[in-house]
Amino acid sequence: MHLHFYGAARTVTGSCFLIDDGAKVLVDIGMFQGGVEKRNYKPFPFEPSSIDALILTHSHLDHVGLLPKLVNKGFNGVIYATKATKEIAKHMLYDSAKVQEEEAYTRTKKNLRKGLPPVVPLYTVDDVKECFRLKWVELGYREEKTVGNITFRFREAGHVLGSAFVELESDKRIVFSGDLGEPERLIIRNPEFPDKTDFLVVESTYGDRNHRSVEESIEELKQAIIDTFERGGNVLIPSFALERTQELLYVLHLLYKRGQLPECQVFLDSPLAIDITKVFLSHPELYNGETANEAKESNPFWVPGLQFTKSVEESREINEVKSGAIIIAGSGMCTGGRIKHHLKHNLWRKECSVVFVGYQVKGTLGRRIVDGAKSVRIYGEEIAVKAKIYTINGFSAHAGRDFLLKWSRMSDAKRVFVVHGEFDKSQKLADGLRKMGFDCAIPEWRQRVVL
Ligand code: ZN
Repeated sequence: MHLHFYGAARTVTGSCFLIDDGAKVLVDIGMFQGGVEKRNYKPFPFEPSSIDALILTHSHLDHVGLLPKLVNKGFNGVIYATKATKEIAKHMLYDSAKVQEEEAYTRTKKNLRKGLPPVVPLYTVDDVKECFRLKWVELGYREEKTVGNITFRFREAGHVLGSAFVELESDKRIVFSGDLGEPERLIIRNPEFPDKTDFLVVESTYGDRNHRSVEESIEELKQAIIDTFERGGNVLIPSFALERTQELLYVLHLLYKRGQLPECQVFLDSPLAIDITKVFLSHPELYNGETANEAKESNPFWVPGLQFTKSVEESREINEVKSGAIIIAGSGMCTGGRIKHHLKHNLWRKECSVVFVGYQVKGTLGRRIVDGAKSVRIYGEEIAVKAKIYTINGFSAHAGRDFLLKWSRMSDAKRVFVVHGEFDKSQKLADGLRKMGFDCAIPEWRQRVVL
């Protein structure tokens, strides 16, 4: 059996692993993000038409984002995913294709003025359509499937709705963690632990630290909202469309039920997040016990005053609201999307707040604001940063260090490959695993090992 590390090796994005044991099976086909985007444009290091099956752990773009390119380059095999992963991936990929097309259009206009050739998008909406003409098998948790001599099944990963880790077996056993969540999350169920295995491929996004508790974060968010409304401003929350947005809506719902949410308007101003919230509503079977009970009584993602603003006109109308509003919009790191318009209208007002609930990568607009910039450039205009800035850390979708170690320990693996982390984070997790007696490696990009 051969294992190839085609992505998320010494970096957090681009997850892609190839198992070759007669049959060829890919686990994830992620997009590279945050400084390594150029890799997306390189030819695949394998022949896409030779791949028999693709197994998707979950619907984040760094795990599914290059699927349209894979199909465009000749992949014609079967795609295995949970039902929720397939449904969310569809929204994510159409949104991603639109972004690719728009970016290529803008850059082409600039290029032509300089006498340079037009820019071709990484993939288009038509490429995404082709993905959904292929055969998809919706696989339930613990349901087994076989491709050639490789048998595999999904287990609950507790990371985002529909997420799974993969247990795969031929003459040897190997487990791919995908992305793992922390137990006791707001909406979804706890991650399961893996069965004993020979080899383990484990993520290490937070291989070096643990998170603050969710309850503390709820308290911080509540206080930020109350203080801002007392000052007469709006609360802006840049948010990721998948999981984080639904968690925020659920937290607001809980605060409302506890009688702790001041009267307000809540705008979910992101077409992608609106579509994904609808997928969440159609899968109550994936909620944890508490949320499932809540869902029996009422819509867990609803609060009085909530408005889904899908059209551009509706989004623009929010600019007229000067106080008492919570505005949730993408992108999560303020690199694009409608949040930039809301920042332009609110960031210079000292009575407003911006609440960051997700990690801000270096070089992004979000990170500059978090790092204390006095002013930032938005759509060619210098905007003063006068609003109060909050950073709330407890809503992470990734497991912290202690849980990653505990989870890996259960696998009893003979060899562990640490992936999906900045190199220093992967090293710290590997150190911890070695102390527990594991044989550990941090593979390099495009490395191949014989198992
Ligand atoms: Zn993920």
